[in-house]
Amino acid sequence: MSKTGKVYLIGAGPGDPGLLTVRARELIEKADVIVYDYLANPKLLDWARGDVEKIYVGKSAGRHSIPQDEIEEILVQHALKGRSVVRLKGGDPFVFGRGGEEIEQLEIDKIPFEIVPGVTAALAAAAYAGIPLSHRDHSSSITFLTGHENPEKHTLSIDFRDYAKFKGTLCIYMGIGQLPRIIDELIDGGLDPKTPVAIIEWATLNRQRSLFGTVETIIADLSASGLGAPAIVIIGDVVKHRAKADWFEGRPLFGKRIAVTRAREQASQLTQLLESNGAEVIELPFIKVEQSFDPKRLGEIFTGIAVYEWIIFTSANGVNNFFELFHRAFDDIRCLGPMRIAAVGTATAQAIEAQNLKVDLIPKTANANALADELIEKEGLESIQVLVITGNQNRDNLVQRLETEARAIVDVLPLYKTSRTELSEEPSAARYRKEGADAVLFTSSSTVKSFIEQKSALELDADARIPIYGSIGPMTSKTLKELDLALGFESPQANLEHFVVETISTLKKS
Ligand code: SAH
Repeated sequence: MSKTGKVYLIGAGPGDPGLLTVRARELIEKADVIVYDYLANPKLLDWARGDVEKIYVGKSAGRHSIPQDEIEEILVQHALKGRSVVRLKGGDPFVFGRGGEEIEQLEIDKIPFEIVPGVTAALAAAAYAGIPLSHRDHSSSITFLTGHENPEKHTLSIDFRDYAKFKGTLCIYMGIGQLPRIIDELIDGGLDPKTPVAIIEWATLNRQRSLFGTVETIIADLSASGLGAPAIVIIGDVVKHRAKADWFEGRPLFGKRIAVTRAREQASQLTQLLESNGAEVIELPFIKVEQSFDPKRLGEIFTGIAVYEWIIFTSANGVNNFFELFHRAFDDIRCLGPMRIAAVGTATAQAIEAQNLKVDLIPKTANANALADELIEKEGLESIQVLVITGNQNRDNLVQRLETEARAIVDVLPLYKTSRTELSEEPSAARYRKEGADAVLFTSSSTVKSFIEQKSALELDADARIPIYGSIGPMTSKTLKELDLALGFESPQANLEHFVVETISTLKKS
């Protein structure tokens, strides 16, 4: 029989992936199976291995969550198969997370386990709303309470009158549904009706909303605001002492939803820039990039790898695939030989530098023609062997110019293929259809074309936000106009930083 695996009970934090512990990330990266909840951000799964088994056990539209004993059974069964099982729970696993019950079951079945704490929602909500939970002059105790809004949770019911006289800070989880009863009991127990209250919904995510009132106004404030679960209610004088600057919700793109296209090299950088300015980003994966090569051809080229005097990379994808395959075939970087390296642009060059290699040539303008110009003008390539690493979108023009104008001996090695994603099956596209966006950002003509091609999968629901279209520069704007999409704004300079600044100033006006 195989060796028993291990279960890692991990706090996934309140939502923002940056709030996960280093230990949790390491374990996610190594996991064979990940069992996750409704409140664990699915983005954390992007860190997992490609072949990880993901099991969702939370509630979803029209479906109840999987019963607790079934979840425990899943953990036990996978561990018995010798697998490393990550159990991801929102916040901290031992704070209103039924972690205790899962551990009891693992002990009965003699399954080894480890527990990794997480940032619990009350701490996160307070920090992201600028509320100090304790204060030398105003609060010397902090209490975590559950409002027991979900009957499935089987928690003991609390009499809030008992907590009215504490003079400390009360943090109530799962309290929205029961808030009128909770407030009545607190007032009944003697809490000053003027005591300030904060409610923070979806804390730490770019859709966080917060509401401030007092014990006597909060019920009316809440119904006027439309806030709902998941939310934390914080009651106490500390709420008055919150930071004046709204460091999180006050960021320039906060509350804005922006769609961008994914799977291009720049996309994650654009997403990061937008998110750091507070935007909620929907990444639409129009294309997918997969490793794809002819093993015989790869074998031939690797056998003679040291004969090439130049190697040319036309994309970061090419670089990453090349070095992955190279390291699988050779255990010594010197097998590459003394070749010189050219990259089509800075993103490609960065990928090469990440391999601890210097780039000898990058053209001033990032395209294959400019690269050919510079190689032809500056380097004598006659009768020299050149290797070009590409994808399936051929670089015939570059190769032809090197062969005819420079009279080089060129070998082409395609290592990946780019194909269209079927958006109708993508969760991100479903979200776009349902909620819409304030803007869709196009970073190239090809992203505009993909958007049009996939139009039927991006049809907005009646009450979705209607986006404006932003373009990174004149070429992209031209394609938008040609394809009858109204140009909302254009970046004054064709780079991501200026594009984001322009997006901020345009959306501020709208
Ligand atoms: N183990 C979790 C709590 C699970 S109980 C933790 O330590 O945070 C679920 C409740 O947690 C929700 O009803 C809500 O009150 C709170 N909660 C979880 N994530 C939240 C978030 N991002 N923003 C506000 N409240 C959150």
